[in-house]
Amino acid sequence: MKALINIDYTNDFVAEDGTLTCGKPGQDIHDKILSLTKEFYEAGEFVAFTIDKHTKNDPYHPETELFPPHNIEGTDGRLLYGELESYYQEIKNADTVYYADKRRYSAFNGTDLEMKLRERAITEIHLVGVCTDICVLHTAVDAYNKGFTIIVHQKAVASFNQVGHEWALEHFKNSLGATVV
Ligand code: ZN
Repeated sequence: MKALINIDYTNDFVAEDGTLTCGKPGQDIHDKILSLTKEFYEAGEFVAFTIDKHTKNDPYHPETELFPPHNIEGTDGRLLYGELESYYQEIKNADTVYYADKRRYSAFNGTDLEMKLRERAITEIHLVGVCTDICVLHTAVDAYNKGFTIIVHQKAVASFNQVGHEWALEHFKNSLGATVV
């Protein structure tokens, strides 16, 4: 069994006016993310959306010092980017679709993603979204430590840091044993 993990593909991380946007590299992967999401959903595979959630000026959150405010709960910035949002709205009530509010970089941190995967006997996870070298990377590291088989779709991940993006793709392969397709 396999699953698609959609990471942080929101307006704040992707749209031109997003507060922490990847810009064009992020926008360029829209069609690939959408088609992979449709492909997994239509095949009856598990589709997870793990989305960063913040409250404004949270004094306890370490990212408050590191990044401008982003993915604030209840704002449009936290909606999925482009057609992914309307597609998500269409499929969200299905048993095979799961959405989690993520509190740290990794999709496994503070969510019940692992439990959802284990109870469905899913061992292979496919990663898409942003940023390659931050949230996708931390998710891949956790997945590696938990023993999942990892597939990263290089045409469906992006970063605002091209050097970091390239480095992370190598790291997935060479240190996490992931397959980069
Ligand atoms: Zn964040």
